Amino acid sequence: MESLSKREAFFKNEPPTAKFDPTTRDKLDHKMDKEKENGHPETSGKAPKELDGYVGFANLPNQVYRKSVKRGFEFTLMVVGQSGLGKSTLINTLFLTDLYSADYPGPSYRIKKTVQVETTQVLLKEGGVQLRLTVVDTPGFGDAVDNSNCWQPVTDYIDSKYEEYLNAESRVNRKTMPDNRVHCCLYFITPSGHGLKPLDVEFMKRLHDKVNIIPMIAKADTMTPDECREFKKTILNEIAQHKIKIYEFPECDDEEENKLQKKLKDRVPFAVVGSNTLVSVGGKTVRARQYPWGIVEVENLEHNDFLALRNMLVRTHLHDLKDVTNNVHYENYRYNKLASVATKGKEKAVGSKELNLETAEDEDSGEKYYSVFFSLHKYGI
Ligand code: GDP
Repeated sequence: MESLSKREAFFKNEPPTAKFDPTTRDKLDHKMDKEKENGHPETSGKAPKELDGYVGFANLPNQVYRKSVKRGFEFTLMVVGQSGLGKSTLINTLFLTDLYSADYPGPSYRIKKTVQVETTQVLLKEGGVQLRLTVVDTPGFGDAVDNSNCWQPVTDYIDSKYEEYLNAESRVNRKTMPDNRVHCCLYFITPSGHGLKPLDVEFMKRLHDKVNIIPMIAKADTMTPDECREFKKTILNEIAQHKIKIYEFPECDDEEENKLQKKLKDRVPFAVVGSNTLVSVGGKTVRARQYPWGIVEVENLEHNDFLALRNMLVRTHLHDLKDVTNNVHYENYRYNKLASVATKGKEKAVGSKELNLETAEDEDSGEKYYSVFFSLHKYGI
């Protein structure tokens, strides 16, 4: 196990229920890296041929860049935790926007009693790049006397988005395929200093094969640095003990960048502070929480881990979160779904001796037949 990278260990530790093997992604990456070193797969061993003139394919990355910028990006972030832990405040702080305000307060203020799933969308623009951000909140989570099954609406929501995507993929016309799958789940832990609650463990265990979970300690300003360090250790131990697979930030290609990032990665679970208030500190206006005994600056790594979280989440790993969602979690869902359709189809086929692939006029049934064919074909039935 020692020779395995953390990331491989994460995937290898306990394979998901489905037969899909996520390590294939790493193996593929490795193979592609090797091919890159050796040249084209068919010309392995030969160095690439430098051209004398300018053909123009060196411009390909620019074409991709322009296309992506034109298309814009989409990201869905889910926040889960008991009400009052500062979820809405943190979302506002993360994206420097007033997604929630006095006119439109956070979901915990509007929706109570039972667990519900609430989505809010905002289109953000920075330096000409557009990001369609969807925030999924789960007001009421863990607030009841009896919290059994309070993760159910959350799992249902995640599955429903996978289902939507699977249907869109199977459609004849796949031009517009909005990706509303949940790419990341920020799980807020109460700053009790006493480790995880049974609900925290249960939630993460039930969701870790469905979504990238990033655990966070809420309202970190309520703990001293020593208490916070100890609390983080306890949480990480419990996560390992319960074999919970949280999202592992992968290494990036650049050595220097890796060194810088290691310091940020080591801060997991991120102990964060959020604020909607601007305070003047040393002539600069910053987001901070002001107390009679001092000021907690949100974007100060000596005060809390907010900056580390934002860097890792938005600047460096947003795309990886989407990749893991697509290549691991969605692939698991898709495998299970299609395998069950295939099994049903096979039973039917055995009953009628042969399976006819019909071309249906109706678009809906057309999709159904296509899916069945697709799954049977894939599994060699
Ligand atoms: P939500 O119900 O989880 O969305 O929580 P809110 O964002 O509505 O915050 C609940 C209360 O906690 C508000 O009074 C916030 O001002 C306060 N709050 C938010 N973030 C922090 C924090 O980092 N530290 C402290 N001490 N209070 C916070």
